[in-house]
Amino acid sequence: MSKAPINWTNMLLFSLTPLFAVTLVPLYGFYSGYDFFEWGMFVLFMAFCGFSITAGYHRLWSHKAYRAHPLLRFVFALGGACALQNDVLTWASDHRRHHLHVDDNERDPYSAGRGFWFSHIGWILRRYESGLTDLNNVKDLQKDPILRWQRKHYLILVLIMNISVPVLIGWLHGDIVASLLLTGLLRLVLSQHVTYLINSLAHMWGRQPYNTTNSARDNGILALVTYGEGYHNYHHAFQWDYRNGIRWWHWDPTKWLIRGLSFIGLTHDLRRCNPARIEAARLEQQFRQATEKCDLLQLPEKWRQHLEHEYQEICRTLKLWNRHRQSWYQARSRNLQESLSQLDLLHIRDAYREVQYKLKVQRQRWEFILQNLANPAMAGT
Ligand SMILES: [Zn+2]
Ligand SMILES: [Zn+2]
Repeated sequence: MSKAPINWTNMLLFSLTPLFAVTLVPLYGFYSGYDFFEWGMFVLFMAFCGFSITAGYHRLWSHKAYRAHPLLRFVFALGGACALQNDVLTWASDHRRHHLHVDDNERDPYSAGRGFWFSHIGWILRRYESGLTDLNNVKDLQKDPILRWQRKHYLILVLIMNISVPVLIGWLHGDIVASLLLTGLLRLVLSQHVTYLINSLAHMWGRQPYNTTNSARDNGILALVTYGEGYHNYHHAFQWDYRNGIRWWHWDPTKWLIRGLSFIGLTHDLRRCNPARIEAARLEQQFRQATEKCDLLQLPEKWRQHLEHEYQEICRTLKLWNRHRQSWYQARSRNLQESLSQLDLLHIRDAYREVQYKLKVQRQRWEFILQNLANPAMAGT
């Protein structure tokens, strides 16, 4: 089978920019040096490009996980052009196909099934059939005048953001070459490869707590360098959630940015998945893996029954917890309008707390069973 034709524009761009970055940046640094302001600008532009892709291109436009003020959409559109990751419509179209056909080598534009190199950058360097642009799946986005404007003037925006702006900053600060090399070149190369890691490494390295039907992984280390996009297994399971790292301690600065901007009205309608659904997916996954372990270790049938019984029990409690949780939230909002009796409120709140405690206890028992699955002493037999 013949290889797909090379996309020479991309091939040259994605070969020469890293080549120049690894040679010219240290060379100029050695002879002339970079000051604090120049490194500061580099970091600022890294963040600007990174968040424009993760919060803008990805969570806002591809997944509609929240809504944003036109001003913010405009800023993200500029940041995306600065990151040189194509216009929003093309990016979102590719990404929606990635989710719809994940790991399908013929239809996922950056299928991890074709290996690290292909999913990282190879898919951009050649004109693969799987990468052909078809904007039919982004008709909703085409209604946004900001996105139509960005697509129409994409090339000029790329040049302004990558050359004119660094030249201007350098001119104001007194060293145009240093600014072009750090804020322009090095920032461009690094910000691109950081994003590419989400398509490559985040589909190969990490855990799969929510879903094993696709290759996406959760990886806290990867989240550190990808502005929180490392929780990719969760993301593929619940793609409309504005968060990727759902626990408060999960490193997901994109989630914090989106939430933070909601306080000043720049973002709104943030979508979160129901916690009971998330937990149900996690439990189902754990149950499936534990059953497989039972088979593998040829554990007695009694064990399997025990495991299944606990699983069904905890699922039942989870459903009950969800119902009580909804009642409690409804009661709280109704209380604001109608002022429910204090006693009614207390009843609803305590019922919710009781089932919450029950769930906590069952979850501890469930974790214990999973950890001691191969331990015969646990059964008391
Ligand atoms: Zn993915
Ligand atoms: Zn996505």
